[in-house]
Amino acid sequence: KRVREARRKLKRDSKVQMSDEIIFFDDVAGNAQAKVELMEVVDFFKTPEKFKACGARPPKGVLLVGPPGNGKTLMARAVAGESGVAFISSSAAEFIEMYMGLGAARVRDLFNTARSVAPCIIFIDELDAVGRQRQGGGKSNDERDNTVNQLLTEMDGFEAEQQGIVVMGATNRKDVLDTALTRPGRFDRSIEVRRPDFQGRLEAVKVHLRDKPIAADIDYFSLAGLMGGMSGAQIAGVTNSACFLASREGRPEVSQADLELAIEQAKYGRSVDQHRFVGAARRRRFAVMEAGISLAATLLPAIEPVEYVTIAPSTRSPLGRTVLEPHIGRYTTGVWTARYLREQLLVQLAGRGAEEVVLGREELSSLQQHRLQFARQIAYKMVNAGMSEHPDYQHIRGLGQNYLDPSSEPGRFTQYTITTEFNQTRSEAVDVDMEVEASLNGGYQEVVALLRRNRAALDALIELLLEREKVSGREVVEVVERLGHPDDLARRA
Ligand code: ADP
Repeated sequence: KRVREARRKLKRDSKVQMSDEIIFFDDVAGNAQAKVELMEVVDFFKTPEKFKACGARPPKGVLLVGPPGNGKTLMARAVAGESGVAFISSSAAEFIEMYMGLGAARVRDLFNTARSVAPCIIFIDELDAVGRQRQGGGKSNDERDNTVNQLLTEMDGFEAEQQGIVVMGATNRKDVLDTALTRPGRFDRSIEVRRPDFQGRLEAVKVHLRDKPIAADIDYFSLAGLMGGMSGAQIAGVTNSACFLASREGRPEVSQADLELAIEQAKYGRSVDQHRFVGAARRRRFAVMEAGISLAATLLPAIEPVEYVTIAPSTRSPLGRTVLEPHIGRYTTGVWTARYLREQLLVQLAGRGAEEVVLGREELSSLQQHRLQFARQIAYKMVNAGMSEHPDYQHIRGLGQNYLDPSSEPGRFTQYTITTEFNQTRSEAVDVDMEVEASLNGGYQEVVALLRRNRAALDALIELLLEREKVSGREVVEVVERLGHPDDLARRA
């Protein structure tokens, strides 16, 4: 009854939400490690004697850290569900959006409510909205300070053990959090909730298709591969749009084709009527660029096979695209070799190379700019990982600062991250820049030579694309095997 009353009060107070649906760990895909760590909180609620007996300090504040849409909220709800306690959620961004002076009152309300329904979990989303490190001397934000102070007071003021409350905060920027928040006795545990890897995506597709009528042809493995780089929320969105596609056509079951189309649309947008938007000259240029890219990808042995290449523009891929097959094994082996990165660099330069080879230097366009930037990022990664040819750059100080997010899909590099804080001197940074330049220039020469050697195959692919718009990877291979240069074909075999 107490809970019901509190719930009613909460309903009135729309900023604090309490949900009726109970979530369990099974509903959260991936993140096995986080679940193991969170079992401590579950144990604390379920078997408090164990905690008392061994004198362990009960968990009080737990921080869930990770990019948005990967299940931090879901995970916190699952902890409540597994523990069989109430779940009270609130967002720190809302604290400070309120009128002046209300932020602190909000926090007080939140904890009062929690005390009245305990045992419970308080979930505070977007904790960094209030908990940013206060800048000494800089302009201070009183509202935010008051709110965060109130939060600190509340956290210091309760004993988790006596009151049965655990506070869980979510943030994607742990680095900006006020260190006062992460001191012992406050949010002193932090658990990472990551973007799903292959295994996580596999579980996520299954979770989201669990309650939906599905056709017999669903291939979870291939879907998890195709969803490379997607967040948990995006995967949920894709399965949902697939259901929508099926129901729009009056089919009761979601099929593999529906899911593949939904993935395609999520990644590249909807297709647009190209004859309305793309003139003949522009269309030919797209064909030249994509023919170059798919040819290089097919000839270079470490690159994944081409799935298809298209010059049909869509809203999010206006130039057409070459799509590689997802490489599932790379996740289990988990390495980016020098050879693979070098070949990826060549592929990224191949569109521009093809423009030069087929259309001439005078006719180069700016359309390949994003791919050139990408090539540069790869070159930086290589130099910083000590993969440079040049002996001086193989163990330069401050290397290893850049990394490729391991959950991004090879060949797509959706989440390439560069950290700008190099632990290097200025002259070392300049050295790295020069080495990157050298590697890009060398790579470009190499890919232009590759395309020139294989000009017959390049021309045939251009014609094929102009005629058919979308060409499968298998057809690209046929052209390459028929017209490619024998040396390159031998290297491929
Ligand atoms: P966050 O709090 O990290 O921003 P949410 O927990 O709010 O992310 O996730 C939003 C939605 O995305 C969830 O309601 C769920 O449908 C889906 N989702 C995200 N991550 C996962 C996951 N790991 N497993 C299953 N579904 C997920």
